[in-house]
Amino acid sequence: MTDVVCRSCGHAALATVFDAPSVPVENSRLYADEASARAVARGDLVIQQCERCGFVQNSAFDPTLVVYDDDYEDAQGHSAVFQAFATRVIDELIDTYDLQGARALEIGCGNGDFLRRFCAASGGTGVGLDPALGSDAGVDGPVELRAESFTTGSGHFDADVVICRHTLEHVPDIAAFLALVRAELADRPEVVLYLEVPDTGRIADEAAFWDVYFEHCSYVDEGGFADLLQRSGFAVVQSRLDYDGQYLVTHARLGTRQPIVARDSQLDFSALADSVDHWRRWANELDEHGRRAAVWAASSKAVAFLSALPDFAPVVAVDINPAKAGRHLPGSGLGVCGPDDLPGYEVDTVVVMNPVYMDEIRAELDRVGVQAELVGLGA
Ligand SMILES: [Zn+2]
Repeated sequence: MTDVVCRSCGHAALATVFDAPSVPVENSRLYADEASARAVARGDLVIQQCERCGFVQNSAFDPTLVVYDDDYEDAQGHSAVFQAFATRVIDELIDTYDLQGARALEIGCGNGDFLRRFCAASGGTGVGLDPALGSDAGVDGPVELRAESFTTGSGHFDADVVICRHTLEHVPDIAAFLALVRAELADRPEVVLYLEVPDTGRIADEAAFWDVYFEHCSYVDEGGFADLLQRSGFAVVQSRLDYDGQYLVTHARLGTRQPIVARDSQLDFSALADSVDHWRRWANELDEHGRRAAVWAASSKAVAFLSALPDFAPVVAVDINPAKAGRHLPGSGLGVCGPDDLPGYEVDTVVVMNPVYMDEIRAELDRVGVQAELVGLGA
């Protein structure tokens, strides 16, 4: 960690705003048995903020520790709330930029679910790139998914729209990555970029330590991201918070490269450590009262939450994705079940990792006949 500089603007003055040693390096990978789930590779979080541009990064991030292959499970497509969000942002993109029949490129396409939805709505074609693609790679109708990373000269820039969702936060050299995209776009000012990242402003405001984890090495908020895009040679067409304020949604196009500007106000991360203490006390009280808790869902947030609370011992993690049932969360080794198996665990408390799904979860609990107190993070 010597000579660490800001990976957004190159400035050398960074302040440590949060740290957590020895957290699982991969939050999205589930394991077949508890022992291997507990034996995962670990790395440190040293979350630092640039004193010039406000960019936040894990300065202890080591990209060689994170392997994105087809065990990497990040699909959200099973949630009706998420499906409604995806439909809305896709329709908006197509309507706003006349993208009927468009050629789409998605960088970091996951299992291709969003790209397939986009192409179904636009009537166009799509190429998705993601090194974590396994058996999903290949051509399926108008969509081609390739198990590869985005690199220069990859020859996909005949696209009319470039989609990049929940990928930039995994890229350590974020400025270099955007410069590469900018260079590949060359002189095509008509191309639209759709960018979606977690909003770091909310993480700071809600002291959401469960949204800070090793795979996420780069953190931006609305103002800082706009600055970064502009000095990378993009013009921000619009940006807003969406998905219950959790996601930063940005539309951009080619623009003129702007100089680096100093941030006039910095995000305040001081509440994160207090939030960890609050939830540790909460977990101890739960334990003293002999309560039995489940966490919902078996997500990256759950892994980060449990990593920060080593004394919290829920009996199960619940997830509506059937591919996760019977597997185990990295770090804690906690087992995962589907909602239909939850009654057998006799829980009286359900910790909701993402309150955006609160109504959906309440309906599922009613359906399977589980009466439990719901406790939402950040709610
Ligand atoms: Zn900076």
